[in-house]
Amino acid sequence: MTITRRHLIRKLGTIGGTGAAFGAMSALGFFPRNAAAFAALPADAGRGVRVAVLGAGIAGLTAAYELERAGFAITVLEARDRLGGRSWTVKNGSRIEMQGEDTQVCSFAENVYFNAGPARIPSHHEALLGYCRKLGVALEVEVNSSRSAFLMGDDGKTLQMRAAVNDTRGHVSELLAKALNQGALDTALSAEDKEKLLPFLKGYGDLDENFTYGGSERSGYATAPGAFLTKGTAKPPVPLAELLANQRISSALFDETITMQATMFQPVGGMQQIAEGFGRAIAAPIHRNAEVREIRTRGDSVTIAWRNTATRQMNTLEADYVLCTVPLTVLAKIDADFSSPVKRAIAGVPYASSNKVAFESPRFWEKQQIYGGISFVGGETSLVWYPSTGLNTDTPAMLLACYVSGRDAVTFAKRPLAEQIAMARASVERLHPGHGADLAKPMVVNWSKVPYNMGAWSSWNADTAVADFNLLNQPDGRVYFTGAHLSQMPAWQEGAVLAAQRTVGMLADRVRETRLVRAG
Ligand SMILES: Cc1cc2nc3c(=O)[nH]c(=O)nc-3n(C[C@H](O)[C@H](O)[C@H](O)COP(=O)(O)OP(=O)(O)OC[C@H]3O[C@@H](n4cnc5c(N)ncnc54)[C@H](O)[C@@H]3O)c2cc1C
Repeated sequence: MTITRRHLIRKLGTIGGTGAAFGAMSALGFFPRNAAAFAALPADAGRGVRVAVLGAGIAGLTAAYELERAGFAITVLEARDRLGGRSWTVKNGSRIEMQGEDTQVCSFAENVYFNAGPARIPSHHEALLGYCRKLGVALEVEVNSSRSAFLMGDDGKTLQMRAAVNDTRGHVSELLAKALNQGALDTALSAEDKEKLLPFLKGYGDLDENFTYGGSERSGYATAPGAFLTKGTAKPPVPLAELLANQRISSALFDETITMQATMFQPVGGMQQIAEGFGRAIAAPIHRNAEVREIRTRGDSVTIAWRNTATRQMNTLEADYVLCTVPLTVLAKIDADFSSPVKRAIAGVPYASSNKVAFESPRFWEKQQIYGGISFVGGETSLVWYPSTGLNTDTPAMLLACYVSGRDAVTFAKRPLAEQIAMARASVERLHPGHGADLAKPMVVNWSKVPYNMGAWSSWNADTAVADFNLLNQPDGRVYFTGAHLSQMPAWQEGAVLAAQRTVGMLADRVRETRLVRAG
C-alpha cells in the first residue's frame, strides 16, 4: 500500500494528537521554511483561530492585514501610542523619548518632518511597494543622490560629486587606454576586444583623440554656457592624486549599491504613512499603549499579560497562536516560558547603533544647486542628507545633519545631546560655511536608547548566527517569531514584510494540517 500524505497525517494524529502530528510533520519537512502561500490563502483559512500579534511595526501590521484577510480572529498589541515602530515620522508635536535623556518635543513648521527611522524605499522592494499601492499610500521620488553634493576629506577640502565621479573615470580610462596602447594587456585581451575597448574608453572617460583626459563638462563648468556667443567651458580636472587622497572617495559610488540606486521612493508626508495605511485597512482591534509583559503557553492556548501604559491597568489576552514581532533586545527582557534554546538565542543577538540629528532650516543648499542627495563628511556625523520635498521653494525644510551607524554611532550616542547637536551643526558649517547658524529646532534620535527598540537593527553574531537564526525562524510551540530581524534584510522594511508574509504562510499551513488531522 502506498502511504499518502493524508494517511500519514491521520496515523500521526491518532497516535499522538495534533501537537505530535504537527511536530513530526515539521521534522519531515511538511512545512517548508520558505512557505509563503499567504497570497493564495483562502478567506476562511483561519476561521475560528485566534491570533495575538505582538507589535504594530511593519512586520506586525503586514501579518495582521494578511491574517485578517484569511479569516483569522486577530488582536494586535502595540506598546507605543502610535503605529509603525521604527517607521516613525517626527513632526510638529511629536515627542522623542530616550532612556536617560530629557524628552524632546518637535516644533517644526507645517509640512516639515523627519523620518527618524526608514526614509527611503528602493524600487526593487516590491513587496512593500505592493502594499503602498494596495493601501493607497501616495509615493514620491526620494532624490537619493545629487551630483552637486560633496565629499569632504578629513582636511575639510571638498570634492563635488560630479568631479569625483567623472574625473576619476577619466583618469582611470586614460591609464587603461595607455596600458592597451603599450601592449601591456595583450595577453589578457584578444586583438578584437582591444580594438573595441579603446573607443569604449574614449566615450566612458570622455578622452580626447589621443586617449588622454584633459577634463570634461561632465565634472562641471568653469564658465556656464549662456546667451549668444557665451560658450560653456569645463573645469580643469581634479588630479588623480587629489581624488585618491580624499578619504570619502569611495562614497562617490554609494548609489551603485543595489539598495541605493535610482529610482528611490518615499511616502508623501513621511514613512509612517505606510503604517497609517495598514491601520485604516485592518478592522480588528489594535490596542495602543499595550505593553506586553508576560507570555505563557497553557495547554492549547497562549496567555499574554499586558499593561495599558496610559491607565497602568493590567490585562490579559488569550489566543491560540502568537505572532511576535517585538525586537529581540526588548523580547529578551519579557517574562516568557519559551524553551531554553530559544531564550538563549533571543538573548544572544546583538543590535547595531544608529543616530540621526535633524534641523529645520532655510534651503541654503539649493543655492548651491543641491536638490536632494547626500554629502559625505566622515567622522561621527558621517553625512548630510538633503530633503526631496518642496524643492525650489522658499518654504523651510528638514536638513539631516547626521546619520551614522555602527561603531562611530556608539561613541556619538554616549555624548550629551547638546554636544551631538553642536557636532552636527559644526559639520554643516564646515561643509557650507556661514550656514551652521541657519539650523534651528534640533531633534536627535539615538536608536540604542529608544524604548521598545533599544537598537537600530539586528547584526547577528557570526558564530551563532546560523543555528540561532534557523531556530527563531521556527515556532516555539504556539509562538511564532517574525520581523525584519528574521530576514536577510534586517535594516530594510522589505525584510519585515517578507518575514511576516512567510510566517503567516507557515501558520496557515499549520492550521490547515491540524484540521486535516482532526478530520482524520
Ligand atoms: C535609523 C534607521 C534607518 C532605517 N532606514 C531604512 C530605510 O531607509 N528604508 C527601509 O526600508 N528600512 C529602513 N530601516 C529599517 C526598518 O525601519 C526596519 O527594518 C523595519 O521598520 C522593522 O520593522 P519590524 O516590524 O520588524 O520592527 P519594528 O518596527 O521595531 O516593530 C516592532 C514593534 O514592536 C513594538 N513593541 C516593542 N516592545 C513591545 C512590547 N513589550 N509590547 C508590545 N509591543 C512592543 C514596538 O513598539 C514596535 O512597534 C531603518 C531603520 C533605522 C533604525
